[in-house]
Amino acid sequence: MYQFHNTGLPILMISAGMLQAKKVNNPAATWHRYLNYGLLGLATRLQEHGYSPRVFHGHFDEPLSFVQNLHAAGRLDTSAPILLSVPSSYALAWARKVCHAIKELRPSAKIVVGGRWVTADDGQWVRKQLPGIDLVVYGTADHFIHHLLDASNWQKVVQADMSIFPRIDAGQSEVLSRLDYRLLDGFDAFTPSFEVSRGCGRKCGFCAEGVVPLTTMKSAVALADEIEACQAVYGDASIRAFFEASFFSPSTDWISRLRNEFADRQISMKWRTETRVDNMAPSQVRELAKAGLRVLDLGLESASPQQLRHMKKTPNPTAYLRRASDLLKACRDEGVWAKVNVLLYPGEDQHSVSQTSEWLDQHADCIKGVSAGPLILYRYGQATCDFLNEIGSLGARPVSPGDLDSHGFTELHLSASMSHEDAVGAASALSRSVMSARDYFDLKSFSYFPRDLTFDQFSASLSERNQANLPFAISSARRCAADMALQ
Ligand code: SF4
Repeated sequence: MYQFHNTGLPILMISAGMLQAKKVNNPAATWHRYLNYGLLGLATRLQEHGYSPRVFHGHFDEPLSFVQNLHAAGRLDTSAPILLSVPSSYALAWARKVCHAIKELRPSAKIVVGGRWVTADDGQWVRKQLPGIDLVVYGTADHFIHHLLDASNWQKVVQADMSIFPRIDAGQSEVLSRLDYRLLDGFDAFTPSFEVSRGCGRKCGFCAEGVVPLTTMKSAVALADEIEACQAVYGDASIRAFFEASFFSPSTDWISRLRNEFADRQISMKWRTETRVDNMAPSQVRELAKAGLRVLDLGLESASPQQLRHMKKTPNPTAYLRRASDLLKACRDEGVWAKVNVLLYPGEDQHSVSQTSEWLDQHADCIKGVSAGPLILYRYGQATCDFLNEIGSLGARPVSPGDLDSHGFTELHLSASMSHEDAVGAASALSRSVMSARDYFDLKSFSYFPRDLTFDQFSASLSERNQANLPFAISSARRCAADMALQ
């Protein structure tokens, strides 16, 4: 159906940055380097179609300077549309300024906007947010990314707002992205990621991945091939990595294949991934640690049975918390750093926060760090309205209802007895009760901080700041037991 003759055509791909960090009180927040691995995966596919893509991240760069630098480097001089990925509603304000600057400097440029968690199926609203853009794309674009490069085809692309056909969600690609780091501008500032699965399907009430089925995992052979190619680009066999999965759920057979593959190729990479707390057996942690697992991000969310039910995390909180406890102890014993995520949710009160706090205290020797925060409600098509009604029945209400339309997200008062401000304070206290500055630095520098940032530089940035707002305790000299297990 489609014909392309533009092989070798340069393609500019931009991952939108932010005007300011989400956590404005944390001076380290602007050092984060979040890789938009979805965009890099699309770039790799375009390269396979014969194009010459290049991926740029906005980070916290000033938008006008960012565009001027691209212009000075000749990056805007392409007849292909510019592909702009907006990974979060927090990036919309930055994206708006960048779109404006691009159109000022090059009025004929066409801008295609994607980012499935932001665009949902709401092209009209996205166009209001980003005036002057030319196409809004929905869902994941793996199947049709190359069709977006010729504007005469846009009406035939089903997952876009100009489509003449009714929208059919093509679902997720079963073929997971391969990432070619040569296409990423400034690649060596990032800790590389490898996509190992997509989706989840476990139906937590607050999570859009809950209704997206879990794919099969990337094969150990394909993963090892990709790691070797990446190590060659970085010129460094000791780089660490993130195995990207919303719900990392390997079978025992997959783990054993990975171990064999790594052993055969002498890969000794340390890596990090993310999973539920009630899904992984201690014996699997032992085997994964032998395959290089070093950091496990765990979505505990709460230790309050009431809150776990409210958020539909589990119908059986007792079994859930018992399995969480077993998993954390296995991490401690195998020298795997456990980073526990906590979500303060609608219906929260002082009692439920205390239950979580006590549980974390009881497991403090197994935990390297805690990332805690109150639920933020993001606009996501029709689902937003239904979810707002659901959490309203738990006593939650938006701090500024108009923000959903004007910004794409809103903060929430969680219950009659817990305002948003109270929840932010309670979340910080939960993190600080367990995590030292060293813990925080170790976890962040494993994957998110620039690879050359030292602990001394990090510490120096903290000295003048308001320590009460930080998510870690500066004075604590705590060492978690997983640190000891490695000595
Ligand atoms: S287990 Fe995690 S990824 Fe899956 S639905 Fe729940 S929060 Fe989302």
